[in-house]
Amino acid sequence: MKGREPVQITLYDTTLRDGAQREGISFSLDDKLKIAHRLDRLGVAYIEGGWPGSNPKDMAFFQEVPALSLDNARVVAFGSTQRAGASAAEDANIQALVAANTPAVAVVGKSWDLHVRDVLNTTLDENLRIIADSVRYLKALGREVIYDAEHFFDGYEADPGYAMQTLAAAAEAGADVLVLCDTNGGMLPSAIAAAVADVRQATTVPLGIHAHNDGEMAVANSVAAVQAGAAHVQGTINGYGERCGNANLCSLIPTLQLKMGYNCVSDDQLRSLTETARYVSELANLRLYPQQPYVGRSAFAHKGGIHVNALLKCEESYQHIDPALVGNQKRVVVSELSGKSNIAYKATEFGLDLSGGSEQSQQILQHIKELESRGFQFEGAEGSVELLIRRARPDYQAPFDLLDFHVLVRESHNGSMSSQATVKVQVGDQVMHTAADGNGPVNALDAAVRKALVPFYPGLANVRLTDYKVRILDGAAGTAAQTRVLIDSTNGQRAWSTVGSSTNIIEASWQALADSLEYALLNGEDG
Ligand SMILES: [Zn+2]
Repeated sequence: MKGREPVQITLYDTTLRDGAQREGISFSLDDKLKIAHRLDRLGVAYIEGGWPGSNPKDMAFFQEVPALSLDNARVVAFGSTQRAGASAAEDANIQALVAANTPAVAVVGKSWDLHVRDVLNTTLDENLRIIADSVRYLKALGREVIYDAEHFFDGYEADPGYAMQTLAAAAEAGADVLVLCDTNGGMLPSAIAAAVADVRQATTVPLGIHAHNDGEMAVANSVAAVQAGAAHVQGTINGYGERCGNANLCSLIPTLQLKMGYNCVSDDQLRSLTETARYVSELANLRLYPQQPYVGRSAFAHKGGIHVNALLKCEESYQHIDPALVGNQKRVVVSELSGKSNIAYKATEFGLDLSGGSEQSQQILQHIKELESRGFQFEGAEGSVELLIRRARPDYQAPFDLLDFHVLVRESHNGSMSSQATVKVQVGDQVMHTAADGNGPVNALDAAVRKALVPFYPGLANVRLTDYKVRILDGAAGTAAQTRVLIDSTNGQRAWSTVGSSTNIIEASWQALADSLEYALLNGEDG
């Protein structure tokens, strides 16, 4: 690459249009505006905002979006070519595109003879006319026109001559870019590369790629298209989209930029990628897939003891890139598959000095393995891992000890249920005995233990439980089954997770709850 400017790839995001067509996603107008703002910061060149002819919410987006004053991105309205037999000036869909008043428009037209005849129910010649007429009309109004050749690759396989004619119709009418679409998402990279190379020979208009993921090839197909001469790449954040989704920009951007030497965004913008992926998943109300390449929580998580041992010596030994380049981070998780290195790594991460060295790490590891064999699971409970390491230190003093507890569940004659818990807790040399009611046994236990501890540790009043998950581990044992409880907690600034396991669900809950409170006290809520 030395001495040569990297080739610029134009990124075109369609999260707000194709992405919103994913089953389970429903963006509000406010969500769409927030995502547009975030995409602009990420550095995409185009944001496809929606289909103004299809619904009022998309039209409202185009009315509101100018107020965002985006720095990098041009906003694009999406729609299809005019109807067969009509003129652009009279066509409601084309007029909705005009009314969206965006600097650029995407016009999707048919390239596959099967679609022209059997879906549009028109002739091959009329299809060429409506492509040309729609593009020419919008160009005459001063719009940048991005022409999406729907089903281009299927059309190219069925009748390459006709598929090429549709592109020529758009190009001669003034289209600024010809986007070749694998609309059904079933193509392989070799076919994409060959078709893009043929089109590259036939026209000087810039080429783009729009790939769907039905064969899990959307990213690979987009890369193949770029290698064959496409410089405009369409996709969505987290690969959201119709059916199995679109090409995932969160994978494509770092692949093109870090591995292939293309220029997509600035280094700073690339470092915002993980945050952008998480932000969009929040607004989509979909949990970010932890194993998602580059940006997932587990993308750089190391669990095997051998891996962690090597990683401590050399960061590249088990990572394909430096996670910081995409704003992600390396994580070491602790489990029964761990080695001593995982424990040593975690101790350092928690700022704890393991004075007993390797032998002490070994003891902690043995303890973890033994607890996991009894149903605990520590990879999702870093709060409990920190406590295990702290408790292994000879000078450790627990901030409180539970002496005993009782929980009562009562059903009254009118059918209502109530719970009451009493606890006896020792702090230093004082013993507190408290009772509390709750809407269930764990809630009552939580209330009673806080009542006992808050006089000593007022900061505990800030600690809230945010999630309580119960998993039955050996379902075949029925009500005698081993139960695992995971509790997520927060003090408003940080979040932590703790675990308990027992055949008694109240005991498992108590273990996770007590760990949560102990963790809070050791991390600044003891005031
Ligand atoms: Zn699509």
